[in-house]
Amino acid sequence: MLESTRSLINPKTTHLLIRHQEIALKGKNRPEFERRLKNNLAKCLGNQGQVHNASGRFVVELVAAPDNLPLLVDRLSGVGGVAAVTPCLLTTPEIEGITTQALEWAQNDMNALPEARTFAVRARRVNKRFPMSSNEIDIQIGSQLKSMREGWTVNLKDPDIKISIEIRQRHALIYSWEKAGVRGLPMDPTQRVVCLLSGGIDSPVAAYEVMRRGCTPVFVHFHSKPFTSEASIAKVKRLANVLREISPQPLELWLVPLLPIQKAVRDSCNERYRTIHYRRFMMMIAQEIANRRGAKALVTGEALGQVASQTLSNMQAIDDVMTLPVLRPLVTSDKLQIVTKAQALGTFAISIEPHDDTCVLFAPERPTTQAKISTLREEAEALPQYDLIFAAVDAAEKILL
Ligand code: ATP
Ligand code: MG
Repeated sequence: MLESTRSLINPKTTHLLIRHQEIALKGKNRPEFERRLKNNLAKCLGNQGQVHNASGRFVVELVAAPDNLPLLVDRLSGVGGVAAVTPCLLTTPEIEGITTQALEWAQNDMNALPEARTFAVRARRVNKRFPMSSNEIDIQIGSQLKSMREGWTVNLKDPDIKISIEIRQRHALIYSWEKAGVRGLPMDPTQRVVCLLSGGIDSPVAAYEVMRRGCTPVFVHFHSKPFTSEASIAKVKRLANVLREISPQPLELWLVPLLPIQKAVRDSCNERYRTIHYRRFMMMIAQEIANRRGAKALVTGEALGQVASQTLSNMQAIDDVMTLPVLRPLVTSDKLQIVTKAQALGTFAISIEPHDDTCVLFAPERPTTQAKISTLREEAEALPQYDLIFAAVDAAEKILL
């Protein structure tokens, strides 16, 4: 298939066929999955179309020609649970109409792709009572199509233009390409997690990974204003907004001041342990927010061995303060894999803009990589931990994206 075919919007497009991934959906969970996916698609569509169930798939009836159909196709293919989006023409399941429509559809594709030299027609009958076989339909429409362009030939394996026809009980569909979706599971507002979002490359990718497994994130960012800048916070908001775009509902971003805690740690804890104390406090605060918001887990962008602080010992030291599970979707990824995902997600360009790292404030030159848990506990117990945590949560600014 020609590369340019893959984004072609045929002006005869009336519907979008939405396929979903069925592998994980055997049995009882399926109706619930379909209901949630349908709901999420409807939210993504707004007033641009209506979603209908169509034998294990969905068809979106486009209300009028939407302003920007390629963008809509992109958006829908990014909805968790979607396996593919296919712009198509929906017509009645009788052969005269199908032939006329398929030829007009093909003509539009040919006009848009003057370089196309080969074609194929592929019909599929789901309704086996249809009076012609798939092969007969291919030949009837294919032979007429052949005469529409000088010197072009059939290529069944890799045609420049492929016209697919699907004949079902109540309707027939005509289309030429599909856009692959993100797959995964539809986001579920009851499966809430708190995602710790720094301004870096990793944490937005980690949040995305759990979102495409059905979780709804509550974002938490820690700042050390006035030592960290407004620009750094603005950057985190932009990152969170990229993720908001793939969510069917508004998302929360909590901006939490860490400075009072950092000062308390600086004044009374071992210098080399400061960074890990900050981390433990971040996690305890995030956990308190999770409890208040009914979230069941925390999510971080930590990857094993990526930076000196992301060692097993330090993860253990962090998990020491947790009662909720900590999900680390990137734990075994290398930087290149994460960067590739961040680029595809659209967060990379934002993440690489400079920002202030909260954790470096009052941090030692050589933070420990082998924190001793008993020492951490002793040092933390000397602080009014709960007062500090509750004060930080109460002072947080909560934004609805
Ligand atoms: P990232 O690219 O996500 O910043 P990183 O490689 O820089 O990750 P660290 O700075 O060690 O790694 O942070 C590890 C994880 O801790 C981050 O992925 C994020 O989930 C969380 N985190 C770090 N700093 C902050 C912050 N200021 N606010 C919220 N979460 C943070
Ligand atoms: Mg970071």
